[in-house]
Amino acid sequence: MPARTGRQYLNGLREQEREVWIGGERVKDVTKHPGLAGGARAIAALYDMQCDPKYRDEMTYTSPTTGDRVGLSFINPRTREELEARRVMMLNWARSTCGMMGRSPDFMNVTLAAWGAAADYFAGGKGGRPEFAQNVRRYYEFIRENDIVLTHSLINLQRSRNVTAHYNLQEGTALQAIRENSRGIVVRGARVLATLGPISDEIAVYSPRLGQYSEGHSPFALAFSIPCGTPGLRFLCRDSFDLGRSHFDHPLGSRFEEMDCIVFFDDVEVPWERMFLYGDVDLLNGAAAGTHYSAHSSHQGAAKNLAKCELVLGLALLMTETLGNAHLPHTEERIGELMLTTTLTRALMRAGEADAKLDEWGVMCPDPVTIESTRNLFMTAYPRMIEILQLLGSSSFMITPSEADFKGPLAADIEQYLATDNTAARDRVRLFRLAWDVAGSSFGSRQVLYERFFASDPLTRARALAAMYPKSEAMERVLDFLRREDGQV
Ligand SMILES: Cc1cc2nc3c(=O)[nH]c(=O)nc-3n(C[C@H](O)[C@H](O)[C@H](O)COP(=O)(O)OP(=O)(O)OC[C@H]3O[C@@H](n4cnc5c(N)ncnc54)[C@H](O)[C@@H]3O)c2cc1C
Repeated sequence: MPARTGRQYLNGLREQEREVWIGGERVKDVTKHPGLAGGARAIAALYDMQCDPKYRDEMTYTSPTTGDRVGLSFINPRTREELEARRVMMLNWARSTCGMMGRSPDFMNVTLAAWGAAADYFAGGKGGRPEFAQNVRRYYEFIRENDIVLTHSLINLQRSRNVTAHYNLQEGTALQAIRENSRGIVVRGARVLATLGPISDEIAVYSPRLGQYSEGHSPFALAFSIPCGTPGLRFLCRDSFDLGRSHFDHPLGSRFEEMDCIVFFDDVEVPWERMFLYGDVDLLNGAAAGTHYSAHSSHQGAAKNLAKCELVLGLALLMTETLGNAHLPHTEERIGELMLTTTLTRALMRAGEADAKLDEWGVMCPDPVTIESTRNLFMTAYPRMIEILQLLGSSSFMITPSEADFKGPLAADIEQYLATDNTAARDRVRLFRLAWDVAGSSFGSRQVLYERFFASDPLTRARALAAMYPKSEAMERVLDFLRREDGQV
């Protein structure tokens, strides 16, 4: 099947009944629920974009098996040009959501594409499970040819944050296999967070890491993917940040609510053909390095980061132009900082592509250290960008009457007093309501939390980068200097 349209995606959601709970109620139709429908429409718009003749060449490529045009984020790039083409596609999607849907489908598409290319990794060598390699290969082709939207949940819900219990496996909350039968494996436990969960077709479950077990086999070591409607699978949503307001009042939240969920697996049966990894702790712990999936999802993240930087910088420039304080030295300094972060973000993305190499699976992989750095950088850079917006905007964030106020009895006062030297009242308010949705609303605050934590906590991220950084090069330069003879410059 060729790349899906928005309508096909929405129909798919309606056809697959799933158990989604929000505010104490079970959602009947996620495409109609006021807290979820906006996000579903936004994803549908992404699908329409890839079918739009204006974008089709940039957004799709020819499937190697069916000859259909399929989404370009499913490609396994073999050249730098293909890698860049994939980024152009991802940036088109990211810009259309202002970078506010980090979990647009390309995030998982590039991950599963990397798995598909590296499918033999999942066979696990001698004495391993060659059928799992076949499962991964088949599944990648299935999602590519059917344009499936995936959510994923990697982290076990933690009961204890005791250092010795860091992985929290034994206290009954972590997801584990509890029995096997001829059809598959039955799993039980709770995971966080499945962003996009209610409006996805399928959920992928894997882990970036797991504490070592002396026996080398663990019921907690799992990777699989199943339809969101699988019996026993329950999505529990946080409050929706789509408050049912107009696009004028709540420009981002009313459009791009991607929803985060806790996922309960109440004795969920995972068919054997959907199992990719089971029990093998070493294989699970080595999956990121062995398949390079994390470098590819960081490539998607880099495009999203750039779109976010462009939004924040553009906002800052317009806000200061509107308020007439663009010429003040401290404004220039702050905007300079936003320009620096934007430039750095773009440069890291491009450098990751320029230094890409063919990996052992024949895939052109972005340079891991460079591209993973985009994630680490953004954990602190994005909150700082938001702080700068707040410093620039000050009380203007609160001088934001609603669309209804512009039609109410105070309309004349609003039009007269809220205008600035440069801008009519309505344009000022429209701009600052958008800025507030980035810098202060519940929707905007969740974005900051997302950037701080979506790719794991800061300590884990720092360790991940340190583990892959070529440390000996840096040490060798110092040692070279120390080896210089007395009198040698
Ligand atoms: C908005 C949002 C969306 C997300 N979407 C997804 C998603 O789609 N899929 C997914 O799989 N995950 C998702 N995540 C979850 C993300 O993977 C986790 O938030 C992240 O891995 C951190 O885990 P935690 O929240 O349990 O942090 P915690 O473990 O609670 O950590 C909180 C802080 O305490 C510190 N800390 C915790 N334990 C220790 C310890 N033993 N020693 C020292 N310091 C410690 C951490 O470094 C951190 O600073 C999302 C998170 C957010 C916020």
